[in-house]
Amino acid sequence: MSKQTLSFQAEVAQLLHLVTHSLYSNPEIFVRELISNASDACDKLRFESLNHNALYEDDPNLAVRVTFDAAAKTLTITDNGIGMSEQEAIDHLGTIAKSGTKDFMGQLTGDQKQDAQLIGQFGVGFYSGFIVAEKITVESRRAGLQAESGVRWTSGGTGDFEVESILRPQRGTSVILHLREDATEYLNAWKLKSVIGKYSDHISLPILMEKEEWKDGELINPSDENGGRQPGGMVKTGEWETVNKASALWTRAKKDISPEQYAEFYQAISHDHQPPLTWAHNRVEGNTEYTQLLYIPSKAPFDLWNRDKKAGIKLYVKRVFIMDDAEALMPNYLRFVKGVIDSADLPLNVSRELLQESRDVKAIREGSTKRVLSMLEDLAKHDKHVPAENAEGVTDVVDADDQAKEGKYSQFYAEFGAVLKEGLGEDFGNRERLAKLLRFASTTSDTPTVSFADYKARMKEGQEAIYYITADTLAAAKNSPQLEVFKKKGIEVLLMTDRVDEWALNYLHEFDGTPLQSVAKGAVDLGTLQDEAEKKAAEEAAEAFKPVLAQLKEALKDKAEDVRVTTRLVDSPACLVVQDDGMSTQLARMLKQAGQQAPETKPVLEVNAEHPLVQKLDGSVHFHDLAHILFDQALLAEGGLPEDPAAYVKRVNALLV
Ligand code: ADP
Repeated sequence: MSKQTLSFQAEVAQLLHLVTHSLYSNPEIFVRELISNASDACDKLRFESLNHNALYEDDPNLAVRVTFDAAAKTLTITDNGIGMSEQEAIDHLGTIAKSGTKDFMGQLTGDQKQDAQLIGQFGVGFYSGFIVAEKITVESRRAGLQAESGVRWTSGGTGDFEVESILRPQRGTSVILHLREDATEYLNAWKLKSVIGKYSDHISLPILMEKEEWKDGELINPSDENGGRQPGGMVKTGEWETVNKASALWTRAKKDISPEQYAEFYQAISHDHQPPLTWAHNRVEGNTEYTQLLYIPSKAPFDLWNRDKKAGIKLYVKRVFIMDDAEALMPNYLRFVKGVIDSADLPLNVSRELLQESRDVKAIREGSTKRVLSMLEDLAKHDKHVPAENAEGVTDVVDADDQAKEGKYSQFYAEFGAVLKEGLGEDFGNRERLAKLLRFASTTSDTPTVSFADYKARMKEGQEAIYYITADTLAAAKNSPQLEVFKKKGIEVLLMTDRVDEWALNYLHEFDGTPLQSVAKGAVDLGTLQDEAEKKAAEEAAEAFKPVLAQLKEALKDKAEDVRVTTRLVDSPACLVVQDDGMSTQLARMLKQAGQQAPETKPVLEVNAEHPLVQKLDGSVHFHDLAHILFDQALLAEGGLPEDPAAYVKRVNALLV
């Protein structure tokens, strides 16, 4: 039979290089990856055979077998799952089909430590075998095909691989690792059992190893684990034993699962090196019955902003794996949540279409969303511990569990806060709960730690709105001329610098009865915060300024919708604002940068009638130039660019000369 030599897709070759050079510090993960592939292959068989029972052939007991041959230095992981046809072996083991591969490659830095973490998130799967093997042989046959349709795939893990057809009576896949000299420690049953226990106890499939016993049967030193005998003196008995717990983790009682086991399971399903931030494991009863085990990661994945990225939830029905990335189970703004949902009610042959329509699925989605929000609320509650004194003056004692949660919400928010905000526009039902979870920087805090509730508690007597400003950067927000009067009066303003803020706030008009007001929209109305004398002075200045105002309007009629006198400025001569219902200039700019259509609305120029520059306007021979400079500078101050930058420079230079 013919043998073909094929090249790896360029990305695979690159990945292989990284795997062997960056992941050697934690080589044992290959056991987890290969067993997980074997388990997926069995899940797929179980699923496909729901409609084609014949696929089981005469071998209905799905299992993974781990064997080794110390003399030949090979370690073999065999499953009787779905298997691969020749073409599938070529496609699946020679290319990476994962979405986001390009993003991933683009983010690699060349720094081994950093890259190792990224690779972990990306999930190297099968290729991790090359951390310990100098050569890998895969022998496989797809369920339902003839014995002659077996395939052997071989590679040394560099540029290419070989495939040939073989006779393979048994269904499924064997991955044979030809171990490198420095990895022979895996040719030992103790070692393998301990690694399998660590990574694969939660796999619901039995993992079998052949029982061994000592040749001589006699103990030399009974207190020693090996009885003092030398390794290599064992013989295989031909009997198989199950070496993992073989019960799906989420089906076990909470009290029987250690935090380490929860963390191991998280790493297995998420490919994330970091331990999770928190998790929730519950059996939900009622109209719809299901088990949920949901995790919040501690770090954002490299492809968090990939729009095609699907939710990281695995759907099971009565412990049978149905599908990955079940989008129907988690709203998009919670796409960072990882976990498992196991339903007792859905039919086993549930399709993606059916998922979208099912009432049970809707109930599961709602329940899971609420669960995630509760987890976040709990973290938020314990983020900062504020010691409270009781009546006897004794400071309260902190619960160890609560203490462990300190600082976690801030950590979560730094990673995922911007994604959470999308929920304001996506999930109307939970908008109020979401609003409570939001945190912002403000004129009193450079870090995003201020909640709407904190803000409200600090509002000035007579203040009627929650003020905020949106800008591209914190510096631009903080130094915006629009804040001047607020700073002068000591009124706090929330500083919003996430790209999503402007959009998200379109969906939130008030918090707990207090309206939200952008300081860059509409006229400032500080209401009772402004004293009568100030108001009067402003009105008089405006009156006196009227003729100049008319001239300004005329000079700037192509650029400004209106020109008016304002009280919001203290040190700056002018600023731009938009009409109450208009789109902010910042959002319009963002849309344009993204190549989208933004409505062509003109901003309003507000001038500070008490500023010397503005006062100079009256009767100036440079009136026209000054007017345009005033406008363009207001634009610059908020991070925009004059429409005709060269003309702006020319005008300023002419005045400088
Ligand atoms: P992933 O598992 O994340 O898709 P891998 O690199 O581990 O990535 O595997 C690539 C593909 O190879 C899998 O998606 C699967 O189609 C196939 N594959 C790997 N191992 C097996 C196996 N034991 N049985 C059947 N197919 C397998």
